[in-house]
Formats: sequence, structure tokens, C-alpha cells
Amino acid sequence: MHILITNDDGVTSPGLFALAQEMRSLGKVTVLAPDHNWSTSGHVKTLSRPLRIKEVRLSDGSPAFATDGAPADCVAMAVMGFIEEKVDLVISGINPDANLAQDLTYSGTVTAAIEAAIWGVAGIAVSLDLPVGLAKPDFDTAARLARQVISQVMAHNPLPGLLLNINIPYLPAEQIKGVKITRQGKRIYRDELVKRIDPMGRPYYWIGGEPPTGLPEEGTDIGALAAGYVSITPLHLSMTAFQAMDKMKQWDWKLDLT
Ligand code: MN
Repeated sequence: MHILITNDDGVTSPGLFALAQEMRSLGKVTVLAPDHNWSTSGHVKTLSRPLRIKEVRLSDGSPAFATDGAPADCVAMAVMGFIEEKVDLVISGINPDANLAQDLTYSGTVTAAIEAAIWGVAGIAVSLDLPVGLAKPDFDTAARLARQVISQVMAHNPLPGLLLNINIPYLPAEQIKGVKITRQGKRIYRDELVKRIDPMGRPYYWIGGEPPTGLPEEGTDIGALAAGYVSITPLHLSMTAFQAMDKMKQWDWKLDLT
């Protein structure tokens, strides 16, 4: 099995390093990741400029590749031939923050898994619910849990095009209660528009405010994480609202074509 490891935090991220180390026991690992942080960049496809890839080393000296492209570009380039062998699995992470509910539309981590699904390759996003402001966060526990979960996923031979969003609580391994298969919950964003004045007297704006919270409902990603479980949400790419389709077909549509 050939595994592509990527992320949205950049190739030097300790979360990517921990993940790559663990996944070497499941297959051949190639690391191709962005050369800088793309967090909260959404799904980016770079068409307006060339992309460069350079050889770099991870902190243990093992070889990796870094690109000036986005997380999804890493996946696209890998499956389109940068990796000559077939890529069987794309794993993105470990992101140093949870990716839950509506976060998935912003998350660079998840876009790498989405891109894999677009190419018919199994894609898995792994995020860790790190408390804010930890000086030296531990990614090794989350990486070990991710490896165990992912080896079970692959043993079940998941359908091509399936993508999984895995979130891991930041707890000592013995305090993790198990695995829950979840649906997306509801985030509560507390963003505030902060207006300031630049030295030339012109206004500029920051999207600021407190970090988001969420409704810890049973059965959801937010609920599982809050209760100390590893959350796995299976996702697909169809965004069609089928109920609305049925209703809207009944409307009396009119166009003035004169
Ligand atoms: Mn990130």
C-alpha cells in the first residue's frame, strides 16, 4: 500500500511528522506537503501559476517533498504522476485543531481528503482537538490512535471516493473512551469584525473574536469529541439537497422568453 501524507500546516509541522512516522508500519509513505501554512484556506486548485516541488528532510532526516501549492494541489500532483506508483490512500494531518461541523468548508486539512475522493482514492483527514496555547503538544498519542483506526478502515476495503474526517480528543490514551461514528454537528462561531485605523488614517479589518464552540449533541462529531471519543465522520462530495429538489420541482416555474 502506498500512502501519501500531506497537511495544510506545512511540511515542518510536528503533527505531519508524527503521522508519517506511524503510517510507515502500514505501507510505503511519501510525504508531499505545502511549504507554508494554508490553514483555513478552503479547497484551492492552483491553475494560474506553475507549481514547484523541492526535496526536503523531516526532523529525523527522512526524505519528503515540499511545494508552494495548496494541500489539494499536493494530492492532485501526487496522483497525476508525481508519485509514479499508484497512490492507495491519502492521509492529511495531523491538524493541531479540531475540524468539526461547518469547519469542513474552511479546512485545508479536509480539502486534501476531498481532493483524494475526487480522484477516486480513499482520503482521510486527521485532526487533534488541541487546547489553545500548549507549548509542546503531544502528537504521538493521536498518531498511534490514527494508525490503529486507519488500519481497521483499510481492512474493510472502503469504497473508492469515500472520505473520512477523524477527530481525536487531546487526552492520555487510557482516558479515550473508544470510537464513535458520527454525523456533522453544529458549530457556533463567535467571529467579530475588528476595525482599526492604519498609519495613513484608512480603516482596515480583522476577522477576530473568540474561538468557536459547538453543540455537543449525541451522535455528532462535536458530541463525540466532548465525551472523550475518537470521532469518525464518513463524508461524500454530493452537496445536493434532495428534499429541496423534490419540493422545488413542484413550483410553477415561469420564464419570460419574449
Ligand atoms: Mn491546519
